[in-house]
Amino acid sequence: MNELWTSAEIAQATGGVASAPFAVSGVAFDSREVTGGDLFVAMKGETTDGHNFIDKAFGQGAAGAIVSEPIAQPHILVPDSAAALEALGRASRSRMQGKVIGVTGSVGKTGTKEALFQALDRVCPGEVHRSVKSYNNHVGVPLSLSRMPRDSAFGVFEMGMNHAGELAALTQQVRPHVAIVTAIAPAHIEFFGTEEKIAQAKAEIFEGLEPDGTAVIPYDSPHVATLYAKAEQHAARILTFGFDEQADVRARDMVPAANGGTLVTATLPSAELCFTVAAPGEHWVSNALAVLATVEALGGDLAAAGLALAEMPGLPGRGERRTLSVGGGEALLIDESYNANPLSMAATLKQLGKERASRRIAVLGGMRELGDRSSELHAGLAEPLAEGQVDYAILVGDEMKPLAEALGATVAFAHVVDAAAATDLIQTEMRAGDAILVKGSNGIGLSRLVAALGEHK
Ligand code: ATP
Ligand code: MG
Repeated sequence: MNELWTSAEIAQATGGVASAPFAVSGVAFDSREVTGGDLFVAMKGETTDGHNFIDKAFGQGAAGAIVSEPIAQPHILVPDSAAALEALGRASRSRMQGKVIGVTGSVGKTGTKEALFQALDRVCPGEVHRSVKSYNNHVGVPLSLSRMPRDSAFGVFEMGMNHAGELAALTQQVRPHVAIVTAIAPAHIEFFGTEEKIAQAKAEIFEGLEPDGTAVIPYDSPHVATLYAKAEQHAARILTFGFDEQADVRARDMVPAANGGTLVTATLPSAELCFTVAAPGEHWVSNALAVLATVEALGGDLAAAGLALAEMPGLPGRGERRTLSVGGGEALLIDESYNANPLSMAATLKQLGKERASRRIAVLGGMRELGDRSSELHAGLAEPLAEGQVDYAILVGDEMKPLAEALGATVAFAHVVDAAAATDLIQTEMRAGDAILVKGSNGIGLSRLVAALGEHK
């Protein structure tokens, strides 16, 4: 077993009491995710209590648990399991001797985190640890920290937030050497009111920077000044990235690459670099520039990092491309069903406009959590839709009504009630030669449409 924590270490970190000596190789708080040798953290949520799943966790091979009520199995008894997980995360961060990178932003956190993982994994001979999935909140961050092997050379952590003050707390746990803000967009804007307030809240990530830390900032963002001002208070170095010639890490030239991605020529403070970004679209180039800025800040091998970007595997629901057999020919499906906000809609529609296709179809579901700006921001998709040269749009759900009204007769479109209706429609509509973009907030359920198209014959 690859020992991650001993019961004595957990007890010391959390101030809890161990019932027996044991060691664990992993950490989980969701009993469905427990695998052999794990520490199961039984947490009390609003609707569920992890203590009800103790037997299940041990049945799946848990080696011990953190609990706030005594149990028969090996455990550490603490007053509050959530606080104990946070303490374990902090202890993990403290014992780690390598470099830590925090990634936040309104879009592109997971994509950037995964690309950074690939790049660092290639750059360094040691272990690179990263958060899994989008584990980026007040539970996901301490969990990801607590899972970090003690001898990791790098730790890469996705950090998210819905409210002001959340990142301030998370960044004190992560204490990054490099803190990245990928982009600012009106995501979760219902909790903030303005995009400027979102930028201020994202800038909190810099508060936890190590004294010699670097802030990595999107130069082309309308909120660069806000991010920069905050970074100046906390960072020893600031690296901006983007497409503007003032950016420290900038893409000078971009042409389509043979593998469908983008061949980029970039200028960095210490090098000129030519590299391929596997995922198509300028937004992935932007994420790649943030990755290279980070490798630059860490003094790593930029050429090796560039090679990793060319091999970056696609991420489920975030631009994954699939070829569909239809009517004796083929259609291209671009699966963006995982999430959507105005910035990512614009970015992916722009890319759709560059696809070679006889017809471009956009299946667009609503964007959630936009509060009282929802109508305006949905209607505002008319412009990106035109830029994406969309020939036919299928608009899904109530939230799309303002866009349907805004489009009028400018674009051929259908407005349907839900993902099931959209699935029926696209199955009868699609033809060989089509490029089909499917994008919407996760809750709209467009992933089911994508799955159904996969089965389409
Ligand atoms: P979440 O808050 O749900 O964890 P995230 O910030 O991790 O989201 P990703 O999962 O990396 O974001 O990307 C989600 C979508 O955002 C992608 O499918 C793509 O459409 C778009 N996207 C990714 N990077 C950018 C970017 N730099 N600018 C604009 N859009 C982007
Ligand atoms: Mg994410």
